[in-house]
Amino acid sequence: MNIKILSANPDLYSTKRLVEAAIKRNHDVEVINHTKCDIVIEKKRPVVLYKGRTIEKVDAVIPRIGASVTFYGTAVVRQFEMMHCFTTTESVALVRSRDKLRSLQILSRAGLGLPKTIFTNYSKNVEEVVDLAGGAPVIIKLLEGTQGIGVILAETKKAAESVMEAFNNLQARVIVQEFIKEAGGADIRAFIVDGQVVGAMKRQGKEGEFRSNLHRGGSANVIELSDEEETAALKAAKAMGLGVAGVDMLQSSRGPLILEVNSSPGLEGIENATGKDIASIIIKYIERNVD
Ligand code: ADP
Ligand code: MG
Repeated sequence: MNIKILSANPDLYSTKRLVEAAIKRNHDVEVINHTKCDIVIEKKRPVVLYKGRTIEKVDAVIPRIGASVTFYGTAVVRQFEMMHCFTTTESVALVRSRDKLRSLQILSRAGLGLPKTIFTNYSKNVEEVVDLAGGAPVIIKLLEGTQGIGVILAETKKAAESVMEAFNNLQARVIVQEFIKEAGGADIRAFIVDGQVVGAMKRQGKEGEFRSNLHRGGSANVIELSDEEETAALKAAKAMGLGVAGVDMLQSSRGPLILEVNSSPGLEGIENATGKDIASIIIKYIERNVD
């Protein structure tokens, strides 16, 4: 098969592993920088141009689109969809996953456990918003943050007030969320491919840090999910329409609470923690969907 990996950086662990796995399974594979693609649209002949070439006869694409280039990256994925390529991440699901608020609304409709979350356009009444979230401490999140940047723990109502004021002045949209203290600075990442959990790890934030992101210095260990956690993770990926997903959950006293569903989940942390060849599992997922 002819597989294209859409990635802005061929040196990233995930990109390299996917290339390796595709070669190992005898496919033609190329990394294409989606930010450098041109999209040509005319009657019934969708084309992608890349470095002066027409990209044709592609069987499948693996989008690895960074959060900073969601708009353009999604347009490129959509163009490949128009060309009838299989994609491990559909463009609509990609867009959905990048908006924290929209994602939470979809997950809520699917009946999943979530930390109570408030979104307001009328920011004057910070006190009421904090009360609605269960009172301080609360978590304040930038709607489009990633890797733990833009996630703030406000210990008091006063702190929440200043933080929200600051963000409002910058015209940045935020959500206010109940702080799940009993998670103890840890969360669970379930890696899902084609409706199956193919690996799970528990990430623990470094000493004194409530954010467990590996990019913030957290550490990861393989874990066995409880039945409840597995069901929740699978349901979340399905609700978001993602064939490949990293579902993040908090362990709370009322069961698993979904934090977010990642559409370009990194392979390094999960492959190291589980010792599994998850890149090959993704390639096999493509093989099952392309004849
Ligand atoms: P990002 O997209 O930046 O990773 P997250 O919503 O995943 O944002 O939050 C980053 C980390 O902060 C989580 O992995 C978790 O450890 C911690 N965290 C986020 N929300 C809460 C919450 N409501 N209660 C407790 N911890 C949280
Ligand atoms: Mg996260």
